Amino acid sequence: MYEDKTLICKDCGSEFIFTAGEQEFYAEQGFENEPKRCKACRDARKAVDYKRQMFTTVCDACSETATVPFEPSGDRPVYCSACFEEINNAKVNGEDVDEVIARIKQRAEQKRLQQELMSQQLEPQSMTANISNVPVTAGREI
Ligand SMILES: [Zn+2]
Ligand SMILES: [Zn+2]
Repeated sequence: MYEDKTLICKDCGSEFIFTAGEQEFYAEQGFENEPKRCKACRDARKAVDYKRQMFTTVCDACSETATVPFEPSGDRPVYCSACFEEINNAKVNGEDVDEVIARIKQRAEQKRLQQELMSQQLEPQSMTANISNVPVTAGREI
């Protein structure tokens, strides 16, 4: 249904192929316009955009720092890339998104508790405490 198409890059003027697979992807994503640039020019622009438009916020699921390519508006939840991927995968698998978010939150909470415990165990007193607790058994010669 789709055929490879040759397009001219708006930036560098070179010809590039808009493949059947890409066309299908564009159609699926609802993009109405054909790409105007070859892949190299698109990647170059993306790299620039990426640096310019990143915003730091807090992930609504795991509460870690999230860097997102849009300005968080506050009326929609924002997720870090890891959670976003997990939630997206869950959606694809037909799982309940709220349940997935609850799971991530629970896991993040456990991780925080674990880190707290670890930092307590690393205190100097408790590190030496175990040594004196080792029971000493007297050896007997036969
Ligand atoms: Zn180009
Ligand atoms: Zn997250």
